[in-house]
Amino acid sequence: MSFSLSDLGLVDRVGPISPSGYIMALDSGTTSVRAIIVDEYDCIVAQASKPIKTFYPQPGWVEQDPMEILASQIAVMAEVQFKSGIHSDRIAAIGLTNQRETCIVWDRDSGQPIYNAIGWQCRRTAPIVDELIAAGYDDMVREKTGLKLDPYFSGTKIKWILDNVSGAREAAEAGELMFGTVDTWLIYNLTGGMVYATDCTNASRTMLYNINTLEWDDELLRMLDIPRSMLPEVRWSSGDFGHVSSEVMTHMPLIAGVAGDQQASFFGHCCFERGDTKNTYGTGCFMLMNTGDEIVRSNNGLISTIGIAEGGKISYALEGSIFHAGSVIQWLRDKLGIISDASESAAIASSVPDNDDCYLVPAFTGLGAPWWDPGARGIITGLTAASDRATLVRAACESMAYQSFDVLRSMEADAHMRLSELSVDGAASRNEFIMQFQADLLGIPVVQTEAVETTALGAAYLAGLAVGFWEDREELAADHARGKRFEPKGDESVIAHCLSGWHDAVARSRTVIQ
Ligand code: ADP
Repeated sequence: MSFSLSDLGLVDRVGPISPSGYIMALDSGTTSVRAIIVDEYDCIVAQASKPIKTFYPQPGWVEQDPMEILASQIAVMAEVQFKSGIHSDRIAAIGLTNQRETCIVWDRDSGQPIYNAIGWQCRRTAPIVDELIAAGYDDMVREKTGLKLDPYFSGTKIKWILDNVSGAREAAEAGELMFGTVDTWLIYNLTGGMVYATDCTNASRTMLYNINTLEWDDELLRMLDIPRSMLPEVRWSSGDFGHVSSEVMTHMPLIAGVAGDQQASFFGHCCFERGDTKNTYGTGCFMLMNTGDEIVRSNNGLISTIGIAEGGKISYALEGSIFHAGSVIQWLRDKLGIISDASESAAIASSVPDNDDCYLVPAFTGLGAPWWDPGARGIITGLTAASDRATLVRAACESMAYQSFDVLRSMEADAHMRLSELSVDGAASRNEFIMQFQADLLGIPVVQTEAVETTALGAAYLAGLAVGFWEDREELAADHARGKRFEPKGDESVIAHCLSGWHDAVARSRTVIQ
């Protein structure tokens, strides 16, 4: 028999009560933190979220308050229980996913951060990176970590704190400081200081973790002058990360799944097999391709990373990021004022029969993968007197698909594999014009996930597998709800013409500033 909590006088809940309880997923993102309750059918039955403030103390610097992240996370955990009427005795386990690379350093005794969290977008350590590149460390870093030497990753951010916060270096050398990415900070505090750990996927973004040996690496630590004593233990993504303390949740559920946001989303897409690939279309685009037990080294500007660390098996992944995807639609709305809402863009783009040879390259902050050209600038090519709002909206929508095409073809070249289909999520993946065009360009089906919250779902899967809430990956894959499927139907000569026009525009965007 099924009954609803509203029958019991409780609030805001949909769907039947699960006999086997629920998984709570915590999604500690860059702009907001969320808590989500999922049942055994992967249904999100309740959620709560809170925005997080970001500070820009100097141009290129990005910071957040670690205490705000923690307090907001705890607040949404309470709110989602209150809203749903599902309390901690019904929570079988907790999964945690988080913004990656962001760096927090705190005092071992007081638990107080010694500086704000330095955000993943922060470029303040560019001079440190330049020095390391000049000293010839680039190849060693790439070989050991799969990453490009870049301020994006946590390592140089830790070094900056030790070099710039008064007394930090001495305290670190005396073993008095702890470093963590956002997952570690939350786990440490939610467990009342009982567990100081991270998972392999988050560790693989620090630039201190050797993805070949699965250990913190002494040579990398020496390169950045970081004492090993300030690093957490690294665990598999699915397993025991300690019980939440009774001060936070009365029945102290186990944190049993942890992964960085893109890897959690990858798991939420059930990209379990070699070749499986997902693309998240949000502000930017984030693509991951499963390369199995092989670390594929990219010749095309992609990074190699740990994709999945579950069930005693590591799957590596190739990762490519595009800086501006959905943000182009925001630009049309906020800067040009030619649309009033992102959801209009698909209909406007479809209102014209073709792109009229007009291309928009949104290199607003340079170009990411596969070009990695910080000097590139945005450009629109092919305008005529007949070009109008629909021409621009169509070119903007198409730009998301062209950029993804370039990264996916690079992945295929690096991994010597052909994609058979592409699994997609993110708000802009709901734009059916873009998804159809993506399928046409790639010549393979593009398949939406039913859940838009694939990241939280992935964290829930990792936790649920650890406690037997779900049996195994096969059960997850079998129940995984897919959304609409877009079959390729483009004319090959038209596609070739479009790609040539796009690549011509990309080349021009790279020479706007000489
Ligand atoms: P993030 O997690 O990066 O904040 P979301 O997945 O919420 O991003 O996506 C937000 C972005 O998607 C915005 O930049 C917005 O312009 C874009 N977007 C939202 N809906 C659509 C749509 N229907 N078509 C195209 N772009 C869209």
